[in-house]
Formats: sequence, C-alpha cells, structure tokens
Amino acid sequence: MKDDCIFCKIINNEIPSTKVYEDDTVIAFNDINPLAPIHILVVPKIHIENLMELENNELLAHLVEVIKKIAIEQGLDKDGFRVVTNNGENAGQVVKHLHFHILGGKKLEIN
Ligand code: 5GP
Ligand code: ZN
Repeated sequence: MKDDCIFCKIINNEIPSTKVYEDDTVIAFNDINPLAPIHILVVPKIHIENLMELENNELLAHLVEVIKKIAIEQGLDKDGFRVVTNNGENAGQVVKHLHFHILGGKKLEIN
C-alpha cells in the first residue's frame, strides 16, 4: 500500500470502482475513461510501479490467467482483444502502479 497511489486506494475500497474480478492477489475493474466498449484494468494488489519492478513470475502467470478468464467472461475471446501495459514516461504511464489494460468490443486502431 502506497499512500498517494490511486490504485492502492481502489484496492483498499477507499475509492469506489466497478469491480469485475477480485481474489487475494489481483483485482480488475472498469477503466473510468474507457477507450473501447470494454476497457478493464487488471491490477496486482501489491504495489509495484511497473513491469521493471515485477520479479514474481508466479504473480505474472496469475495475472495472465486472470486476463484470459475475464476475456472469456466478457465474450472477447472470439473476436479478439488487446492487452497493454504502459511502462514509464515514454509510454505515457500515468498511474504508477502496475496494471494491464484489456481493450475490446470493437475493431481497435493500430497505434
Ligand atoms: P496508464 O496511462 O497509467 O496506463 O493508465 C491509467 C488508467 O487508469 C487510465 O486509462 C485512466 O482512465 C485510469 N484511471 C485513472 N484513475 C482512475 C480511477 O480513479 N478509477 C478508475 N476506474 N480508473 C482510473
Ligand atoms: Zn499502488
């Protein structure tokens, strides 16, 4: 838990969110500013800034499992979807708590 981290606050239920998945180590909720009909953020509960701080391969494997489970639940597996993690300044990472965007529900632009 990092005091000034918005996703830590969401994890602690200090800020409301529309959760689509939760277990002991991972949470997923709808992005507040969706860029696609389905835009979900998959977030480890432990505060890790980004991929460069992620050393726990078991957690990474679990995050991927959760992403796939949500994709199936949301009906994204047939037509496809995008998974994005912004890592640092040049990628435009705004929230400094590791998260994976799941984007789908329409044909996505390449960019
Ligand atoms: P980044 O640019 O860091 O990869 O993405 C951060 C994402 O978090 C953005 O898509 C933004 O809309 C989303 N976001 C920022 N603050 C909140 C919030 O308080 N609640 C939710 N649900 N999403 C947020
Ligand atoms: Zn955090």
